[in-house]
Amino acid sequence: MFDIIIIGSGPAGMTAAIYGKRSGLRVAIFEENAPGGAMINTANIENYPGFSSIDGVSLAMNMYEQISSLGVEFYGNKVIKIEKDEEIFKVYTDENIFLSKTVILATGTKSKKLLAKNEEKFIGNGISWCAICDGNFFRGKKVVVVGGGNSALEESLYLSSIASKVYIIHRRNELRAQNVLIEKIKEKENVEFILNTIILEFSGDKKLEKILVKNVVDGNEYWLDIDGCFEYIGQEANSYLVREKEITNEDGYVLVNNNFETKIKGLFAAGDIINKEIRQIATAVNDGAISALNASRYCK
Ligand code: NAP
Repeated sequence: MFDIIIIGSGPAGMTAAIYGKRSGLRVAIFEENAPGGAMINTANIENYPGFSSIDGVSLAMNMYEQISSLGVEFYGNKVIKIEKDEEIFKVYTDENIFLSKTVILATGTKSKKLLAKNEEKFIGNGISWCAICDGNFFRGKKVVVVGGGNSALEESLYLSSIASKVYIIHRRNELRAQNVLIEKIKEKENVEFILNTIILEFSGDKKLEKILVKNVVDGNEYWLDIDGCFEYIGQEANSYLVREKEITNEDGYVLVNNNFETKIKGLFAAGDIINKEIRQIATAVNDGAISALNASRYCK
């Protein structure tokens, strides 16, 4: 029997594990991918205190080493179901059922797709959601980054040192990204903004060769030759485990109180999965710490 089972090993989950373990409890983390959550798809992090610049994989590994040295039990399994039976939670994987007094849900978000014509056909063959994983396939080539948020601009910066040309296609003429990123992008000679524009269709013989774009102001449509497309159009809640439990808002984000506890006693949630406005590593760390301290109190 665990005291705390944490589902998801992003910064929220790993911070919760540190605080849970340091409260003297038996703590496990379940993670279906590599430890780190969305951090591991981030080329460069410059707004996490203590590191003026660090790549996402290194920060994730630092956190992972810290939880390992504390004795947190790490399971590389996908959780398929959670149930509360009397006062005890049952956490199901494909192979086993694990019991715990509390659960902290830290499953974060997943990337949205454009849903443009022929998008499915070119996934892994020109279309990607991870510049740091796939950027190298486009060395010296032309790529498009879709979106106007922090992710789109950060990954465009990374790609600008690999690709010969980076087009940033954004549906409005105003960007959501922080000014510091916009200023950095403006210094890159091989990055070009294509604003007020949407992608209608992907095309190519075996791999992606061109996209049909439309200017939403004048209605003009034209084909743009490119080799790769990176979609950074935001995230959606990865709350498949609790969708039926009536603890999410209509978009699937989990509703919690100030203690990061859901309406189900003993079930906490932390990080990008919860209903909040600011999603940063720093805010995920905050949520993870508070949720674990309250889960510890609940256990005791
Ligand atoms: P985001 O901030 O939600 O931005 C998504 C962008 O994609 C927006 O510009 C949006 O356009 C556009 N978009 C959404 N749906 C679209 C569609 N169907 N077609 C075309 N464009 C579409 O998402 P994000 O950049 O992934 O960031 C997610 C969260 O993580 C944010 O809270 C962000 O601040 C945070 N983050 C922070 C950092 C950092 O601090 N360094 C880095 C990465 C991410 P509109 O603007 O028109 O809505």
